Amino acid sequence: MFARRIAVVGTGYVGLTTGACLASLGHHVICADVDEDKIRRLRDGKVDILEPGLSELVVEGLAAGRLSFTVGAAVALEQHAEGVEVVFLCVPTPMGVGGVADLRAVEAVLDEIRDTLPSGCVIVNKSTVPVGTAVRTAELLGRSDVAVTSNPEFLREGAAVRDFLNPDRIVVGGEAQDAAERVAALYSRLGAPTVLTDSASAELVKYAANGFLAMKLSYVNAVAELCERLGADILDVTEGMSYDRRIGREFLNPGPGWGGSCLPKDTQALLQVADAADFEFRLMRASIDTNTRQRQRMVDKIRLAVTGNRNGSLSHSRVALLGLTFKAGTNDLRDSPALVIAALLRQAGAELVGYDPALPASTSHPDLEGIELAVDAYAALAQADAAVVLTEWPEFRTLDWPRIAGLMGTARVIDTRNLLDGDVLTRAGLTWTGVGRRQAV
Ligand code: NAD
Repeated sequence: MFARRIAVVGTGYVGLTTGACLASLGHHVICADVDEDKIRRLRDGKVDILEPGLSELVVEGLAAGRLSFTVGAAVALEQHAEGVEVVFLCVPTPMGVGGVADLRAVEAVLDEIRDTLPSGCVIVNKSTVPVGTAVRTAELLGRSDVAVTSNPEFLREGAAVRDFLNPDRIVVGGEAQDAAERVAALYSRLGAPTVLTDSASAELVKYAANGFLAMKLSYVNAVAELCERLGADILDVTEGMSYDRRIGREFLNPGPGWGGSCLPKDTQALLQVADAADFEFRLMRASIDTNTRQRQRMVDKIRLAVTGNRNGSLSHSRVALLGLTFKAGTNDLRDSPALVIAALLRQAGAELVGYDPALPASTSHPDLEGIELAVDAYAALAQADAAVVLTEWPEFRTLDWPRIAGLMGTARVIDTRNLLDGDVLTRAGLTWTGVGRRQAV
């Protein structure tokens, strides 16, 4: 394998993982960001995001001289003494007006580096972008001596390093075959199946994959609702489904509705991509609508448990939220379903106290407004009228539930992740409600 000279623009979940992992594979990587504080901390080996193994790789890369950090993409290109061969774009592409992906960060970087890009280098877009972006990027650049490729990223937060270094597949698309092959070769040591294709197909792989995952979760959430109506148990139903290899075991747990920094924005963007192609993607629309309904359904469950009425007011009720991040293993709050449910509970009049193992009680974040953060689960649950499990942190399973029964004013636990052992809670004297479970209300 040739060690390449690489610049990575954006040092978030995707960019920092990409930079640190490529350096660990032997490449020479300079990472750039607009956030000066973040770059200062990274130069000292300090990583803000919670990702197992990432700090270690950053420290190793810095010590080996294969990884460095700088402010600004253009500066990164200038600092690589012998000239950068590959530039990865890993900047945010959030949901913009009407659900269309907002490409302003991508365009800002292109403006910044257009004149500094060395001849013969390859731009690799790792950000999740609408179909056609690679072609448009090439037009915006107006540089016939620079190839543009799409290389979507599939890592999962909380397992970013492991996923990057053990990928299920590598997808690279580009109109110039040799450029796509050069990008694929960066990963050759990983031995992953590689799909080489055109840029439109590569870009669509990412949206199609995330859309499918969202649809699978919406499907299982809908089946869970059906279980509640029919007196069936979703755990048995999904177990029975999971032995079918065409279905598989993953993504079969019902929950409070899917969220996070990717699925909501990517499903909306996919709808817009389809709309622009004059295709009404009804299946995707129904998956999104099912998800919106699922969150409301969780709030209705909580209202029923606390007031005895699905539409009851939660004024004067104190609700303890266990878990606030969008899933366990991360401190990312972006588009967390827990926070959507928290906002709906607040609208219904509830007073909210929350605890999350990844968020110290001193955490200040605009999305946490209106939620009093507790130092531990017991402090959150003291005098609460209801406890709602919103994130599947394993440690909630082993809480001292008999002690909690003594602490809570009235004892109702609504488990939107089916995380807890209902028998343990019942023995402790608590009333427990899951999602799609036989005893669920
Ligand atoms: P992030 O918000 O964690 O990080 C983005 C970084 O880019 C930030 O540090 C920001 O300061 C920096 N940035 C913004 N504008 C910049 C500019 N002009 N120049 C240099 N740096 C700039 O985002 P992320 O979660 O890493 O996502 C990045 C992209 O990857 C998105 O398109 C996302 O959809 C996609 N993606 C994310 C995940 C995930 O799990 N987070 C997985 C796969 C794909």
